Amino acid sequence: MACDGHMRVTVLGSRGSVPVCGSDFSVFGGNTSCYLVEAGDERIFLDAGSGLVNAPVRFSRAPVILLSHPHVDHLLGLGMYERISQPGTMTKLYVPARDAQEAQAVIERLYSPPLWPLGLDGYAGDLQIEAMPKAMRIGEAAVETERGSHPGGSQLIKICHAGKVLVYATDFEHGEKASARLAQFSRDADLLLYDGQYGEGEYGAHRGFGHSTLEEGVALMDRAGVKKMMVVHHDPHSTDKVLLARERKLGRTDIWFAREGAVIEL
Ligand SMILES: [Zn+2]
Ligand SMILES: [Zn+2]
Repeated sequence: MACDGHMRVTVLGSRGSVPVCGSDFSVFGGNTSCYLVEAGDERIFLDAGSGLVNAPVRFSRAPVILLSHPHVDHLLGLGMYERISQPGTMTKLYVPARDAQEAQAVIERLYSPPLWPLGLDGYAGDLQIEAMPKAMRIGEAAVETERGSHPGGSQLIKICHAGKVLVYATDFEHGEKASARLAQFSRDADLLLYDGQYGEGEYGAHRGFGHSTLEEGVALMDRAGVKKMMVVHHDPHSTDKVLLARERKLGRTDIWFAREGAVIEL
């Protein structure tokens, strides 16, 4: 796919399940899933976790948020994202098409009394929620989705721009069929964001929770010819010390754990 420009990923939050804070989490950060992808003039957020609270507000074009699935850790930042409080702004939120109506209902339920002081229609900005087609264009970027593997469902998201390919596979549990599907979907990708929530030995007690491991990610990356992998959705119990030790043990420069605030140029 030929298009001009560049693609840049900023990690705004990569913690899984629930935000954490404190000195044990100062290297990798504590905010939940949110990544800003700059593709030419387009601004695309992957998920709306608590990291969205720290996201930029002003853009030359309306930003788009692509939701992997409507679990609360991926929606925590939406209600406090300053942009949706600003009159005259528009933000588009795409939810997985498979259960779009249900996803929209979940979001509206989460952001309405008694769980939240006001409904999303009470904000001054315009937030449009739409079902995400299997394939679409956002400006010059081509976006595709594929079925993930997670309780209640999740979607894998692929963004192609300027000849570069980014795949987002969060809240993904490995398995024969699911891993084959992801391997095919991410073939030759430049960067794979892979759910490596559990360490070796931790997965056994969490089978069926919908997350994977660094080791499974490495196997998938090598199988799919993926060039680089950033491990995401860190377990809230994984301190900096734990994650640094895992990185060091692996000893590969093409694989690392996502650090909040990091910018990756593709
Ligand atoms: Zn999650
Ligand atoms: Zn989830």
